[in-house]
Amino acid sequence: MARVYNFGAGPAVLPEEALLEAQRELFDYHGSGMSIMEMSHRGKEYAAVHEEAIANLRRLLHLPEDYDVLFLQGGASAQFAMVPLNLLTPGQIAEYVNSGAWASKAIKEAKVRGSVRVVADTSKDIPTRLPALESLTFSPDAAYVHLTSNETIAGTQWAVFPTTPTPLVADMSSDFLSRAMDVRQFGLIYAGAQKNLGPAGCAVVVIRKDLLERCPEDVPIFFRYRTHAAEQSLYNTPPTFTIYMIMLTTRWLIAQGGVEGIERRNREKAAKLYAAIDASSGFYRGTAVPEHRSIMNVTWRLPNEALEEKFVKEAAARGLKGLKGHRSVGGIRASIYNAFPPAGVDALIEFMREFQAANG
Ligand SMILES: *Cc1c(COP(=O)(O)O)cnc(C)c1O
Repeated sequence: MARVYNFGAGPAVLPEEALLEAQRELFDYHGSGMSIMEMSHRGKEYAAVHEEAIANLRRLLHLPEDYDVLFLQGGASAQFAMVPLNLLTPGQIAEYVNSGAWASKAIKEAKVRGSVRVVADTSKDIPTRLPALESLTFSPDAAYVHLTSNETIAGTQWAVFPTTPTPLVADMSSDFLSRAMDVRQFGLIYAGAQKNLGPAGCAVVVIRKDLLERCPEDVPIFFRYRTHAAEQSLYNTPPTFTIYMIMLTTRWLIAQGGVEGIERRNREKAAKLYAAIDASSGFYRGTAVPEHRSIMNVTWRLPNEALEEKFVKEAAARGLKGLKGHRSVGGIRASIYNAFPPAGVDALIEFMREFQAANG
């Protein structure tokens, strides 16, 4: 049995230890005679899973008491809508940084609900980049400021977050738990599970408790954060199997030395890959400006599209899968999330050298 190196952007690679544990427990969960996904979400077995998943997340994030962790369905895209529904109260303006495809979608949803001021727009810039911190100004009267911590398609990532006079809301779908940070900088963080956390089917929301009260009464009960916070994300049936996998993945992450431990490994993987791109005498060209390069999604081009296609095809034949860039931008993208093994990055670099020697 051979596992390939999966560079896919999402759903994405999971820790082998977590997959094997799920396999061992799948048929008969802890002697219960059924799998975890067949059980009541109100039973004691699932309750222990749910509580451990939340506890692991709190521990990994060093989460202060005045924040809640929620599991919500609809992925990150549902959060594009829930954030303005809950936090953009009538008469207020929400401030958004447009840094690419995902930020643009978040803005589109917010505009359905209320007024949006785009404080900076680098979504069309080539090479891809984020706005300079010193160019950003925020209004103290805004409802909140929204940004995308890592643009999965463009391959850009905020190294330092702006200080904002209103709550900072961050879409961390593609870099959640990949690097140490002070959660106190944020009022709300959300992340679809399927990139760095588990299988698809759930978004994790980290919210400062005072913001739970903001939601106007005209918002349907189900779409209020406080509904789910009051019931520890058990208001209705949660995506139990996805949360079980998040529990196993976060348990694995703790064993890797937590976020601090995985960050070291992530930075090493990314540094090696960018060094290989930069050492290719222009055959490979990074698409993001160096100061905004992502350590999760590494994007680059080859001299032409025919070569890019050949690169992706030959890499796949060697077990290096999922390297094709997003359909909207083309090029090559290597997603090297937490669970992506360093040996896979070494194998890719070796292939890149051989491919250049044969085609350069
Ligand atoms: C993938 C992704 C999304 C969309 O996630 P869904 O769970 O499919 O809705 C949103 N934001 C970012 C940054 C992403 O990478």
